[in-house]
Amino acid sequence: MMKAFRRHARRERAASLVEVPVPVPGKNQVLLKVSHCGICGSDLHAWLNHPGYESVLPEVTFGHELSGSVVSTGPDAGDWKEGDRAVMIALQASHDPNDRYCAEGLPQLSPRRRVQGLHLDGGMAEYVCVEQEFLLPIPDGLDLQLAALTEPLSVAEHCIANRSSVGPGDRVVVSGPGIIGMFCALSARSRGAEVILTGTEQDETTRLSAARTIGFETLLVGHGHPPLHEQITAYFPDGADALVEASGSAHALADSWQSVRPDGVVTAVALYSRTIDFDLTQFLRKQIDLRTSYASSRPDYLRAFDLLSQGAVDLAALTRTYPLAEAGQAFADSENLQVMKALLACSD
Ligand SMILES: [Zn+2]
Repeated sequence: MMKAFRRHARRERAASLVEVPVPVPGKNQVLLKVSHCGICGSDLHAWLNHPGYESVLPEVTFGHELSGSVVSTGPDAGDWKEGDRAVMIALQASHDPNDRYCAEGLPQLSPRRRVQGLHLDGGMAEYVCVEQEFLLPIPDGLDLQLAALTEPLSVAEHCIANRSSVGPGDRVVVSGPGIIGMFCALSARSRGAEVILTGTEQDETTRLSAARTIGFETLLVGHGHPPLHEQITAYFPDGADALVEASGSAHALADSWQSVRPDGVVTAVALYSRTIDFDLTQFLRKQIDLRTSYASSRPDYLRAFDLLSQGAVDLAALTRTYPLAEAGQAFADSENLQVMKALLACSD
């Protein structure tokens, strides 16, 4: 038997630590002993049974941001062998050359995609079975705890490298200092951009102070503060080359055109809980390229490995690690913005 943090009903906060059988790897599958598993914003939404998460199974073990070591393999599980270290690709669409999104290297957009940890059992457990094509070997020298951040960092890499046209010397605003915003800022900085992170009063204690610890300029926006576009002129007099909206605030996206220079880029990487009323003509008159960025694919994970291996991510400043037994507390702390990124240590 093993411990797993499992949802047991389609209700708010209906998840707990339970004892379940250790899964047995089937054809194409690998059994991993989970080292660490992160709590993602989507895990929080699923845990809180928010609208938009109806597809999450009523009974499922959460967790898609995991690292671990191979314990055993089923038939046809490729070259994987005991002791190999791996991370899991979270959004999974088995390769099909007739699927145009596979052919274009964007399997995360395939209508066949699923998320392990929402649509089948995930990694907030001592062990997890993963189909071998969705595993990536962790580079030598990168530790398992840090490697558990590969998935969220890959989402930022996709946003910055593929969807935001950020290059050396660019002036970038990242709106929203959650972990995806923070990782987008790190990814942009690694490309030689000058980056400013923005957040609200409620972000100040944990998130914006963490951003300053790792060397970012921060600005406060929202009630009682001047609008972002007024504050930004002190740093970027002509406006930002790119603005990445990672907060999920409808206002922040609607007003973004004011802080971006003509012919600049706005990329939305957050999920918005309501429809957004915005004045497209204002974007048009500045010919701002308004884009979205969703999830990530294999090459983004590989670049995330590189960033982690280079020491770009300060684990102590950005994460707090909880034993798997305290998963409920880790979810509550994440909900209350007490922690940037909660990691569960699953095999102590
Ligand atoms: Zn995630």
